[in-house]
Amino acid sequence: MTTAPSRRAFLRGRFQETAPLRPFGAIAEFQFSENCTGCGDCVRACPEAIIVQERAGLPVLDLNAGGCTFCGECITACETGALTEGASWTWKADATQACLSRNAVQCRTCQDHCDERAIRFQLLPGGRAEPKFDADLCTGCGACSAPCPVGAIKLTQFNPPKEAQSC
Ligand code: SF4
Ligand code: SF4
Ligand code: SF4
Repeated sequence: MTTAPSRRAFLRGRFQETAPLRPFGAIAEFQFSENCTGCGDCVRACPEAIIVQERAGLPVLDLNAGGCTFCGECITACETGALTEGASWTWKADATQACLSRNAVQCRTCQDHCDERAIRFQLLPGGRAEPKFDADLCTGCGACSAPCPVGAIKLTQFNPPKEAQSC
C-alpha cells in the first residue's frame, strides 16, 4: 500500500530532483543503493518493460518506454527488500520550458494521455498555454511522459517535511 502525502503536507513540503527514479516500491535512496544487488529481477518482472538498469546495475524507470501501472510485479520479484509494499510513491509530473504549448505551439498530448485528468491548460497571451498539473490528482504514473513530442514531461520527487513523516 502506498502512502500519498496529504494536501497540507504537500503544500508545506518541497520537491527535489536529485534522486533517481527507482521502480515503484523503492525504499529511501540511501538504503536502496545498499539493499539492491542489481540482480535485474524487477527488470524481467515488469510487464510494461519500463525498468532498465543503470551503468552500475541499479534499476530506474525509463518513462520513454511507457508509464507505471503500479501493478507491483517488481515488488513481488524483489527478494532483497529494496522494493517493498510499504514504500511511499512521491513522484509528480510537471512540464519543462520545452513544452510546445508554453511556446505558442498547439499541443494537448499529455492531457489526452492522463487518465486521472490531472492536467489543465491556462491560456496566456500570444497563443501560449501553461500546462497545470494538479498534484492532488497526479499519481506520478508517468503515462504522459512518453507521448510528449518534445520530452518535456519530468517527474519530480516530493520530499515531505519532517513533521509530516512518521517516526
Ligand atoms: S509496478 Fe508494475 S508497471 Fe510499475 S515498474 Fe513495477 S512491474 Fe513495472
Ligand atoms: S505533451 Fe509535452 S509539449 Fe505537449 S502540452 Fe504536454 S508537456 Fe507540452
Ligand atoms: S504522471 Fe500520470 S497522473 Fe500525473 S499527469 Fe502524468 S499521466 Fe496524469
